[in-house]
Amino acid sequence: MLAAKGLDTVADLLYYAPFRYEDRSNVKAIAQLAPGEKAAVVAYVASAKLSRLRRGGINLFEVIFKDEGSGTLLARWFHGERYAETLLPDTRVALFGKIELDKTSGHRLMVQPEVEILSGGDDADETLHSGRIVAVYEAAGKVSTRIFRTLLDRILKEVNLPADPLPESVRQRITLPTLADAIKETHCPSAGTDLRLLNEFRTPAQTRLIFDEFFWLECGLALKKNKARLASGISFEVTARVREQIKQMLPFKPTGAQRRVIQEIVDDMKRPHPMNRLLQGDVGSGKTIVAAQAAVLAIENGMQVAVLAPTEILAAQHFSYFKRLLEKLGYVVGFLVGSAGPREKQQMKNLMAAGYVHVVVGTHAIIQEDVSFAKLGLAIVDEQHRFGVSQRLDLMKKGNQPDVLVMSATPIPRTLALTVYGDLDVSVIDEMPPGRKPIITRHVKEAAVEKVYSFVAQEIGAGRQAYVVYPIVEETETSADIKAAEKMFLHLSEKVFPKARVGLLHGRLSAGVKETIMREFQTGEINILVATTVIEVGVDVPNASVMVIEQAERFGLAQIHQLRGRVGRGAQQSYCVLVTSKLGDVARERIRTLVESNDGFYIAEMDMRLRGPGEFFGTRQSGVPGLRFANLLRDTEILEQARAESQRLIEEKPRDELRAAVAYIQENWQRRYGLVQVG
Ligand code: ADP
Ligand code: MG
Repeated sequence: MLAAKGLDTVADLLYYAPFRYEDRSNVKAIAQLAPGEKAAVVAYVASAKLSRLRRGGINLFEVIFKDEGSGTLLARWFHGERYAETLLPDTRVALFGKIELDKTSGHRLMVQPEVEILSGGDDADETLHSGRIVAVYEAAGKVSTRIFRTLLDRILKEVNLPADPLPESVRQRITLPTLADAIKETHCPSAGTDLRLLNEFRTPAQTRLIFDEFFWLECGLALKKNKARLASGISFEVTARVREQIKQMLPFKPTGAQRRVIQEIVDDMKRPHPMNRLLQGDVGSGKTIVAAQAAVLAIENGMQVAVLAPTEILAAQHFSYFKRLLEKLGYVVGFLVGSAGPREKQQMKNLMAAGYVHVVVGTHAIIQEDVSFAKLGLAIVDEQHRFGVSQRLDLMKKGNQPDVLVMSATPIPRTLALTVYGDLDVSVIDEMPPGRKPIITRHVKEAAVEKVYSFVAQEIGAGRQAYVVYPIVEETETSADIKAAEKMFLHLSEKVFPKARVGLLHGRLSAGVKETIMREFQTGEINILVATTVIEVGVDVPNASVMVIEQAERFGLAQIHQLRGRVGRGAQQSYCVLVTSKLGDVARERIRTLVESNDGFYIAEMDMRLRGPGEFFGTRQSGVPGLRFANLLRDTEILEQARAESQRLIEEKPRDELRAAVAYIQENWQRRYGLVQVG
């Protein structure tokens, strides 16, 4: 059961973080308890009753407890079914909670108290579980919080904790307890420790463990980054001709932010080491044109460029965009996706291997084994969150240390960026192209959807176009989901908008069909595009002014923000309508965030707060560290400090300390953080 939770070794147990602490030092006889007091009681079940409340249909479980001092205590649990099975008459328990006075019976009362069964056969020393401040752990199968407490107590008594691995120079600057003391105090806090600090994870002991997690993670990332930095790479040269070609290419005046980031990218490409840079910018901020400028620099230096997109639709969009920009400069732009015919693909591969194609735009097909480049010098990866780190590496292997530019529209809160992308340099476009009007977002209940449709009809009448989006995540598109989208499509095209041309786009269509539909939407032949989330990324149709998102509560916040970035690309006012059924509190909060804000960073921050960092990234994100004590939202300051210390260590390079640190990371942290080779 421990293994199922990833707890394989004694060290894993030592780093198993309590999630809460309780002060059980105040153990009293029931008869001595005063209302308002928080206390621990040891008692046995005298009688129990499970009843169903008429209002709300909730099961109420009530128990009368008695103790040796013949005091009587009533305890009450709502939704108490699970207690009813275990709290049988005569069961001995420890209860923790606040004492009240029950007006009807006159008994002392605890509502929803914490309860631990004492006669459960683990016959541990009771002083371990009450009479002091105790840590509370999340159970692992049948391994209860009591068993964890017992195990950790024995380990801490019998095992010699290792010498403190934190470099001496670091320890001198920050005053924190030793690792051994920190672990002991975290699992078994001394009497008198401030309970509030403990529960906020702010005691010196806890701070030390949080610091450690960040420190070793940041060291690992910095070492990895350093290693990549020192590798020899291509040193691109900016010539007068490069400048001239870029001037020829640009269809508009770049914004200040675009000029700044292209300078950062160019400076990086000039260096004789591989570039590893993340280009971040909200949807519609104009990342593509920046990437195209980097491509010109690479091509003029005799190198090839690969542009990798997460979906075929986006790849097709990029292909036509790059073609439009680059062919007039005399460059050859190619397209490679999995669904193309075998002969077509083979031909493209031959042209790439021969060095005839300057830029190849495509999907995963580009990183297949049988694909090779004559001279790959720059790899551009769009929408990073869809790709794992390993794919970035696969792409790099296709060239001789090519420069890598990763583009992402997922605005990542700064703390998260520091850790997740710790091995990348970051450039941010924080300004929108001129003339954009902020999108107006509205929330509408399903019942009123007809009003939304008449608004759409009005916009179509004015010559605009619209998207209607269904909540299907591409990878999990099931037949049922497709059917739902198809049904809706029929309903909209026949009943609601009989005069408009409505198109349907989803992941199961063949590449050819998808391409045709996208083209027809782009040219305005299709007025309304009913789509699943395949349009989430990159699609660029400036004339589209409305996006209706059905069942919006099923999407993630960041995802909706991405989606609505498909409108508001032209000069006219654009709208996003979020249609939902009845919402719970969190869902309402999420929808409100979207209605009130157009700021991708703020939305990402809220998304992370409402869902937690793990969920925020979902399972697709590789490289999210296995933090156990540290919390990215709560511990920002400690993270910054750990990062500063790790950078100092790596820059100052005290030989022995650094060597010891590398060994320690390799042994203890590499696997946990999913780091690929730090040494
Ligand atoms: P994203 O950052 O979401 O990838 P794109 O690169 O697709 O954004 O750009 C969004 C739209 O804005 C495109 O139609 C693009 O041509 C246009 N655009 C980008 N930069 C500028 C600019 N400086 N001035 C005017 N339009 C721009
Ligand atoms: Mg884009």
